[in-house]
Amino acid sequence: MNILTQKILIPNQNVELYIRREDLIHPYISGNKFRKLKYNIEEAQKRQKKSLLSFGGAYSNHIAALAYAGKLNGFNTIGVIRGEELENNFLQNPTLQFAVSCGMQLYFVSRDEYRNKSTAINLEKYQNIFGDFYLVPEGGTNSLAVKGCQEILTETDSKYDFICTAVGTGGTISGLINSSFNNQKVLGFPALKGDFLDNEIAKYATKTNWKLISDYHFGGYGKVSSELINFLNLFYKQNNIPLDPVYTGKMVFGIVDLLSKDYFPKGSKILIIHTGGLQGITGMNQTLKVKNLPTINYYV
Ligand SMILES: *Cc1c(COP(=O)(O)O)cnc(C)c1O
Repeated sequence: MNILTQKILIPNQNVELYIRREDLIHPYISGNKFRKLKYNIEEAQKRQKKSLLSFGGAYSNHIAALAYAGKLNGFNTIGVIRGEELENNFLQNPTLQFAVSCGMQLYFVSRDEYRNKSTAINLEKYQNIFGDFYLVPEGGTNSLAVKGCQEILTETDSKYDFICTAVGTGGTISGLINSSFNNQKVLGFPALKGDFLDNEIAKYATKTNWKLISDYHFGGYGKVSSELINFLNLFYKQNNIPLDPVYTGKMVFGIVDLLSKDYFPKGSKILIIHTGGLQGITGMNQTLKVKNLPTINYYV
């Protein structure tokens, strides 16, 4: 697959900035979620499974991608969703509405149960309710997902000095690390707080040429500020590239901030991976409106 890579024009002439538009793979199975599902779906087919089951929050890109990919490949899909309170009004949620329109069955659980969703007892319970299924972990991350993400970089990418990606569960950055060149540094920008990610990544990564930059999570997963939203709108106006507010927007905000601080050595070529996530904008805008914050004024 040949993915468009665009040069981004920046006032800072000391470095070159490029973005790989994995978001253009598909409006719903976009970016890294396509990469992460590819070999898992192959595996489910090999094992002759009829259903795929996975987990996610109300705006999950992974749930949207799984619902669509399942439909495309003739699987039943089941989404175990965090938050019982959504049970009666989930059709107001654009992500869940989309998932249902793809035929996904939703099963809402309390936050407590969600935390323990992968225990043997709960998995058995889901099996009793839904029958046999192929289990895709939360966020889609497992070794087959990492294998899929290794295909984001190809041999022609050796010219870059830095590869940058947003980080959620760590599967995507692990794939990038494994297929990176030794002279490259892979920088991850976590979209959430917490220091468990280094260990997660170390489970899958076969090299040590990586680093997490944890200063740009904006208070935690899914948290945004007017400053971030205004940045996204300006970035779109200047570059005609839509970013998502949960992952790629925070990363690019971080990179632009680091550029202003001369973080990157002169002459560096930096490749940003646009991992997609644009389906979440409609839901985020609903939340922003309620909070009287500025909204994101573009969508594909
Ligand atoms: C899920 C997601 C990520 C995080 O990927 P991980 O493999 O979980 O680290 C990054 N960007 C977007 C747009 C995503 O949807």
